[in-house]
Amino acid sequence: MIQTSKNIAIIGSGLVGSLLAIYLKKLGHDLTVFDRRSDIRNIQFSGRSINLAMSNRGWKALREVHIEDEIKKIAIPLDKRAMHVIGQEEYYQKYGREGEAIWSISRGVLNKKMIDLAENAGVKFRFEEKVWDINLPEAKIYTGDTEKSAWKEYQYDMVFGCDGAFSRVRHKMQRRSRFDYSQDFIDVGYKELTIPPNSDGSHKLDKYSFHIWPRGKFMLIAMPNLDGSFTCTLFMPFEGEVSFENIKTKEQAKLFFKTYFPNVRKEIENLTGDFFKNPTSAMVTMKCYPWTYWDKVALVGDSAHAVVPFYGQGMNAGFEDIYELNRIIHKYGNDWEAIFQEYQKERKPNADAIAELSYRNFIEMSSKTADPRFLLQKKIEKHFAAKHPNKWIPAYSRVTFSDRPYAEALAIGDAQEEIMKKIMLLPNIEEKWGSVEIENKILSLL
Ligand SMILES: Cc1cc2nc3c(=O)[nH]c(=O)nc-3n(C[C@H](O)[C@H](O)[C@H](O)COP(=O)(O)OP(=O)(O)OC[C@H]3O[C@@H](n4cnc5c(N)ncnc54)[C@H](O)[C@@H]3O)c2cc1C
Repeated sequence: MIQTSKNIAIIGSGLVGSLLAIYLKKLGHDLTVFDRRSDIRNIQFSGRSINLAMSNRGWKALREVHIEDEIKKIAIPLDKRAMHVIGQEEYYQKYGREGEAIWSISRGVLNKKMIDLAENAGVKFRFEEKVWDINLPEAKIYTGDTEKSAWKEYQYDMVFGCDGAFSRVRHKMQRRSRFDYSQDFIDVGYKELTIPPNSDGSHKLDKYSFHIWPRGKFMLIAMPNLDGSFTCTLFMPFEGEVSFENIKTKEQAKLFFKTYFPNVRKEIENLTGDFFKNPTSAMVTMKCYPWTYWDKVALVGDSAHAVVPFYGQGMNAGFEDIYELNRIIHKYGNDWEAIFQEYQKERKPNADAIAELSYRNFIEMSSKTADPRFLLQKKIEKHFAAKHPNKWIPAYSRVTFSDRPYAEALAIGDAQEEIMKKIMLLPNIEEKWGSVEIENKILSLL
């Protein structure tokens, strides 16, 4: 055994908390996971809940504890985007090279499975126990029904905060001196809608595609579920001309979909009902530092770094935290202080990088896709990457299909952007963009 067994509490039985529990249990520790919500395994849902895209980093973390194959059984590979642009036939864009795909997976189904796997490995779960406070130096946690009710005290050797973007554990760390914290909401919200299966259970749209209806400042996306349905997400500004605020009646909702999503509107189940029933949710980038308190407390996943979802990497980044933490544990054995120091120093720049990349993708999708210069630049990059796949790996592939650090993907992306700025300044670039001259110019700048 590489570590002396410790009595560890994890706060949060979400995707990150349950995977971390599996990892730490394998190392021989005694694990208890607390969650304020009730056991998700007792909640009935059809699988049509929110879905997520799992990519390389997530799979790598699952592979390490031998659960990749089992989880792949509940996921659908998507090897391309299906673009639904107004006034054009539907067309497809391959994501990466042959065999590269992102995987659509229901968050609820995945979370249930992970809790099952953790429980089978011997992890204890305490549901409906909200953590209200934590004593950081002594690794004591306090749970109870309300903030004012009598609390139960638990003493552990260590505590991991996997309690999401609005973490209580982090909240306690924030009150310490020299703790950096920032939180930025974007002015776009999202709402989930459903496309049900055909009567024979098949999917109404291509099942192996990530469907996108880009509309400038707003867009609709859809990802498939195993039961034949699709979960759609409408991203749109909270306020403004076309906005959630301006759709107040069923008639306005109908008109909105008729105008902007005429081809898919009939497929969406109970469109106007769900539009008003389902919440409009906000999206936030949260950064903080440090992520650890001596050898007692550490933040992992969204509690340490929440990003806007436009790269589909939040969960993947949280899973990568765990993979890296485990690698560092194997380096330092029982020296938890050294483990936590290296963990936060290594992960922080990468968390900042994926936050930046995710935010840039949001800007790109919402404001740049209508700019002809931007579209030309993308066309040149794509053309060049197709001819020189080893010389120009697009940022999307570096983030999604690689396990190289996010910070490296960001730095290379910035260097590529500098090259493209020079290329875009060349005279008559609009006419010569696909020429050998331009290709050679890019090669000379690399
Ligand atoms: C619209 C949207 C789309 C997304 N798409 C993707 C995607 O395609 N790919 C991807 O990789 N990521 C995606 N993400 C991000 C992903 O959902 C998160 O990164 C991931 O769920 C974080 O997991 P977590 O376990 O750290 O936190 P959470 O999932 O937030 O879990 C936290 C858990 O802690 C519990 N908890 C909180 N406070 C307390 C307390 N005080 N006491 C006890 N328990 C507590 C909660 O009940 C919850 O169970 C998306 C996010 C959004 C919003």
